[in-house]
Amino acid sequence: MRVKKLSVFIETYGCQMNEYDSDRILNSLSGIPVNNPSDADVIIVNTCAIREKADHKATSALGRYKNLKKSNPNLLIGMTGCVAQLYGKKLIKQIPYLDFVVGPRSIPKLMNIVKDLKDSLDVKKIETSMDVQEVFEIHPYHKKDKVNGFVSIQQGCNKECAYCIVPTVRGKEINRSLEDILEESKLLINQGAKELTYIGQTVNSWKHNGERFHNLLDYLGKLGGLERIRFTTSFPRDVTSKMIDSMKNNPKICRQLHLPVQSGSNKVLKSMNRTYTIDWYRESIRKLREAMPDLSLSTDIIIGFSNETDEDFQETMKLIEDIRFDTVYSFKYSIRPGTLGEKMDVHVSDEIASDRLYKLQKKQKEISLENNIQHISKAYEVLVEGVSKNNSDDLFGRTTHNKVVNIRNLDRSFVGKMVNVKIKEAFQNSLIGEIY
Ligand code: SF4
Repeated sequence: MRVKKLSVFIETYGCQMNEYDSDRILNSLSGIPVNNPSDADVIIVNTCAIREKADHKATSALGRYKNLKKSNPNLLIGMTGCVAQLYGKKLIKQIPYLDFVVGPRSIPKLMNIVKDLKDSLDVKKIETSMDVQEVFEIHPYHKKDKVNGFVSIQQGCNKECAYCIVPTVRGKEINRSLEDILEESKLLINQGAKELTYIGQTVNSWKHNGERFHNLLDYLGKLGGLERIRFTTSFPRDVTSKMIDSMKNNPKICRQLHLPVQSGSNKVLKSMNRTYTIDWYRESIRKLREAMPDLSLSTDIIIGFSNETDEDFQETMKLIEDIRFDTVYSFKYSIRPGTLGEKMDVHVSDEIASDRLYKLQKKQKEISLENNIQHISKAYEVLVEGVSKNNSDDLFGRTTHNKVVNIRNLDRSFVGKMVNVKIKEAFQNSLIGEIY
């Protein structure tokens, strides 16, 4: 007898690691993804706890599915991800229509959890153990011929940044084996992926059985059928000369690096426990640009951490003006439970932090636009990903620098192909080009 596949609706919050986990959740349930929650047998909210706002957003998202449960008592509603890990039992107690709570490391156990729940609907399940051996066992769901995909090479984090909840909710760093990474890469390439992004909390600290991150890049560069390699998120202290050489010498590795600096002030970096100085960071950028002059750089910045003064903030402004990142992801500091930052005094009012954030984002918008204008009249190879969000006659893709390019009047048969595009117009977050 054929068993009916589960229809699964997943709402995903947070980073690329969560997007990847959502695809693993789909595969772990052998599910069919549905776009409408009312068509689902199982609804899952895959959550992010990095900031208080994200954490609230995820719990309030669950409320939207409450009425569906009333009209369909067989429907299962679950929460996964970092908020699930953080609050576990508390969520089940507080939210009566929630059937299960599963932490990031326990995704491989999801199929059995859902099976048990189907057998006895009145039971609730909580699985937030960090001690899961098979943490990398489930491969991600990949829609056939989707151009890009993610491969996780690491779970958890060994750094102890004072503001960060990741080590609490994702545990200590576990590095995936080289064989496993190559196997999953080949699987995705065989399903049509042309570009893979290798992800980890501090991806460039990866090491396994004597191999280091630069060795891994060399192995990935030899994978047949893979046209582009990206990786994120890199930790500044773990940028090595060997890593820079591997990037430079491997034409498949995209000219793009996300290197979170968090602050331009040594005093703030020290209180954040980031373990590098601004001079170290600037020197790493110098070496990277010397090796790859066209490297596109992006960063993260936290505004208003603990004792950030106006002078500290001016140093951050100076840094973004000097480095001229293409993109800066900037946020106001948000105190997270169980972190070192929770115990520190906070001297920056919300009003001051908002004002600093506004100034930084305003400056960065100007820089991003000016950087993008530099691309006008230049030609780039663009890997076409799909139909443009702005105009259904256009397709969109990305350059090696991770710039989104909307390509005018391009036939859909070009999806998945590398095309040569000349840039005609530039905006703050995207470019417009024509095939030539
Ligand atoms: S490196 Fe720091 S900010 Fe990044 S995940 Fe680890 S603890 Fe969090």
